[in-house]
Amino acid sequence: MEANMNEFLEALEARTPGEAEFHQAVQEVVETVWDAYLANPKYQENKILEKMCEPERTIMFRVPWINDQGEVEINRGYRVEFNSAIGPYKGGLRFHPTVTLSVLKFLGFEQTFKNSLTTLPMGGGKGGSDFNAKGRSDNEIMRFCQSFMTELCKHIGPNTDVPAGDIGVGGREIGYLFGQYKRIRNEFTGVLTGKGLEFGGSLVRPEATGFGTSYFANHVLAAHNDTIKGKRVAISGFGNVAWGAVTKLTELGAKVVTISGPDGYILDEEGFNQEKIDYMLELRATNNDVVAPYAEKFGAKFFAGKKPWEAKVDMAFPSAIQNELNLEDAKQLVANGCKYIIETSNMGCTAEAVTYAVENCVFAPGKAANAGGVAVSGLEMSQNSMRYNWTAEEVDEKLGRIMKDIHDTCVKHGRGADGRINYVKGANVGGFIKVADAMVAQGHV
Ligand code: GLU
Repeated sequence: MEANMNEFLEALEARTPGEAEFHQAVQEVVETVWDAYLANPKYQENKILEKMCEPERTIMFRVPWINDQGEVEINRGYRVEFNSAIGPYKGGLRFHPTVTLSVLKFLGFEQTFKNSLTTLPMGGGKGGSDFNAKGRSDNEIMRFCQSFMTELCKHIGPNTDVPAGDIGVGGREIGYLFGQYKRIRNEFTGVLTGKGLEFGGSLVRPEATGFGTSYFANHVLAAHNDTIKGKRVAISGFGNVAWGAVTKLTELGAKVVTISGPDGYILDEEGFNQEKIDYMLELRATNNDVVAPYAEKFGAKFFAGKKPWEAKVDMAFPSAIQNELNLEDAKQLVANGCKYIIETSNMGCTAEAVTYAVENCVFAPGKAANAGGVAVSGLEMSQNSMRYNWTAEEVDEKLGRIMKDIHDTCVKHGRGADGRINYVKGANVGGFIKVADAMVAQGHV
């Protein structure tokens, strides 16, 4: 009997009540891979989609720590080990007050397809905590990371599960997490990526997500006989990903005019230069989560409480957090002449925004466009295994090649009879087939 897609989705929702973000991520994938799923009887026989939607393992734990006032604080820690069909679980840790099981399940699910697209042998996982770093001292962050790792270290390893950074987890946090892992396990291994260069990190890892999305955008433009030179660009966020994207897009000749934070967005008609790019790092390091000081320092405009999608631009790169760009935003962008939305945050656009954008402009989904970060994490794992380091040029060249391969995969599986490329379909089908075939080969595990 042929499976029915709506029944499949209804059953999933009934089995996972209240997990709205997870349902959103699954629905987008299932709708686009359904034909490929039905086309191979082995997938149905093996209930591949059902298996893919159930994490192999979910770990939830208490994270107690002592703040600077000597009080006990309790957070919740998680690691969702989603799929290990093509490699060890791989994916970031997010420390942010919006973290819930549903958020991490959507991220782990997406990561499985994203990692498959990179062509590297990495499964999918994600973890984190509802810890809020805003206003916390460095010592508090260290104590939190140590407590978090004291539990997590029982479940991860260089051949089992290799976490990295995500929102709220950067080089500093990875350093503290690595130190605690090494101390407890008495092992110096590549158990985390995004490490400092002195202890096994890879060159170009901090820049990789932003560079990767820029390279991907370049291929998207080329496929539409267009060029990045002179394009006006809106970017949201001001963290690591936004920083890398501003750097590379500016270098490629685009004019980035916005960045944003929880306090609002800045509009800088002059575009970015090195001084402004460096200042983004300073802003981030303050732990205050605001961009307004940029406007004061460089004489740009600041729009309190607003999103950058109201600016008149040719391209938009949502680079902050899930569902940051909704249907109204997408309509406003297109009405203002925006031709390309390159989703750089994970699930940065709502389902309605994606549907609208796919039909009314060119839309690249996060799991393809932002895969450069985890791709260079994969290269960091390779370097750790070899106990050897590649040069920045070597890593950047490999990153460029991977982003081109991902674009080729999207075109291969996403080009319709009318010649248009549906990047959502292309990325989902391309990522799905490799994982599905590996799962079939490995039997009912
Ligand atoms: N958090 C990043 C992502 O969403 C990177 C994960 C990693 O490097 O493992 O892909």
